[in-house]
Amino acid sequence: LLEIIGIDKSFGSARILKTCSLNVFRKQTVVVIGPSGSGKSTLLRCVNLLEPADGGNIFFDGIDITRDLRNASKVRRDIGMVFQNFELFQHLSAAENIMLAPMKVSGLSKLDAHDIAMQLLAKVRIPEKADFFPDELSGGQQQRVAIARALAMKPKLMLYDEPTSALDPEMIREVLDVMADLSADGMTSVVVTHEMGFAKRAADQIVFMENGEVIENATSEQFFGGTVNDRARLFLSQIL
Ligand code: ATP
Ligand code: MG
Repeated sequence: LLEIIGIDKSFGSARILKTCSLNVFRKQTVVVIGPSGSGKSTLLRCVNLLEPADGGNIFFDGIDITRDLRNASKVRRDIGMVFQNFELFQHLSAAENIMLAPMKVSGLSKLDAHDIAMQLLAKVRIPEKADFFPDELSGGQQQRVAIARALAMKPKLMLYDEPTSALDPEMIREVLDVMADLSADGMTSVVVTHEMGFAKRAADQIVFMENGEVIENATSEQFFGGTVNDRARLFLSQIL
């Protein structure tokens, strides 16, 4: 579904991504780990066309999207993104946050969009919170609304950038459970996270980045079976 071939990205003179390559097959979940500043968020932002890649190619669903900005709005519709800090619209209720894109982008009626919002709130296990505003929800609930909002456009791919790192420990689990359910249902996903329990449970593939490079790309079996290179092993020993 997603094929990243040797992409480069610099900010000024700093080379942030150095010929990074990554394949994500349909229905697979790929977990990306690596030290702070290694380029994980930048990689996701390039896929989502929030940042243009300087070199290399990104194929999504068979189309080279790298520099074809005519595709940008369609690509963003097909790719759901979830951020560390939820980024919900504070003046809209949970349901209204989810209804916004289906109404504005797909032209659904308010009634149809509301149906979708209620289905998705049930899926993320907070159907009773439809009329609550973000500041009336816990962090874990807000993040689940953000996931539901991303799902509302029926994306082909979900990107998560450290979705639980702003959450208190007791809320991490409920968000990871929802993500693992989605992965088990076949939602193709790329997840930047250091939650290795989630990786073990849900990942098909684990990618380790350092200094803008993909240093390790292993199947879950290889990775947790101990067949990882020394740098990835050192990093793991520091976070676990
Ligand atoms: P973290 O784990 O802290 O989120 P990361 O792996 O996601 O780190 P990135 O956010 O991709 O890392 O950043 C990689 C490098 O690129 C950092 O050194 C950062 O300072 C730099 N960088 C990112 N975005 C920009 C930007 N818009 N302009 C200049 N430099 C940037
Ligand atoms: Mg980041």
